[in-house]
Amino acid sequence: MSRRKKIYEGKAKILYEGPEPGTLVQYFKDDATAFNNKKKATLEGKGVLNNRISEFIMLNLGRIGVPTHFIRRLNMREQLVREVEIIPLEVICRNVAAGSISQRLGIAEGDPLPRSIVEFCYKNDTLGDPLVAEEHITAFNWASTQEIDDIISLTLRVNDFLSGMFAAVGIRLIDFKLEFGRLYEGDMVRTVLADEISPDSCRLWDIETNEKMDKDRFRRDLGNVTEAYAEVARRLGIMKEAPRAANDEAWK
Ligand code: UDP
Repeated sequence: MSRRKKIYEGKAKILYEGPEPGTLVQYFKDDATAFNNKKKATLEGKGVLNNRISEFIMLNLGRIGVPTHFIRRLNMREQLVREVEIIPLEVICRNVAAGSISQRLGIAEGDPLPRSIVEFCYKNDTLGDPLVAEEHITAFNWASTQEIDDIISLTLRVNDFLSGMFAAVGIRLIDFKLEFGRLYEGDMVRTVLADEISPDSCRLWDIETNEKMDKDRFRRDLGNVTEAYAEVARRLGIMKEAPRAANDEAWK
């Protein structure tokens, strides 16, 4: 059997041609990067966990009517997704100050924000994904005003859903990043949620202890990164124990 054609390789995932036109296979790697690729490592088992966590979240979002690119999980590292045209924005939603907003605006990390804030960054590694305003997005045709409206309302629905879902298992959703795509169906175009939702793209703190259970453990050298991701999966009822890389087959 010949290997599927690689369409795109990102920092944490690879996209392969799918089995049918209009589909892709999204493969989750164990690679972790931070600070615009300046810090790199391989975290054994991370890809397996993110595949499962993202599957769980996308499926549940689909059930409440949020359109996503997700079709189904194929195996422990791959999922079948719909091919979309990615809108070149990183959409960030924040409930509590942390990371770049704390640095930019001098708000102490952990301070609750007066309301949920949605920010846009232009997806461009060379420029370091700069923060942009809606003015820039429409002026440079990265997305239309209708698409921005759809993106904001979908992001706020995702935020409400995820905040409740995580709160139920003792986790506080501090912030997260989403990506959206254009799904072409005949003459229609729909804005759908794409990429992944995992501890790589969310800040998740234990409600009781404020312990970080997300990629900040890697960014800030706090250790036990995959263990924390496995704990998120365990609390959500997805996986009973952490994956053993040597025994990958067991997770198929
Ligand atoms: N984020 C992400 N990819 C990025 C930038 C940010 O997934 O390229 C996520 C990040 O994990 C956090 C949220 O978006 O959950 C807000 O990130 P922030 O702007 O504070 O940037 P950071 O501190 O991660 O540089």
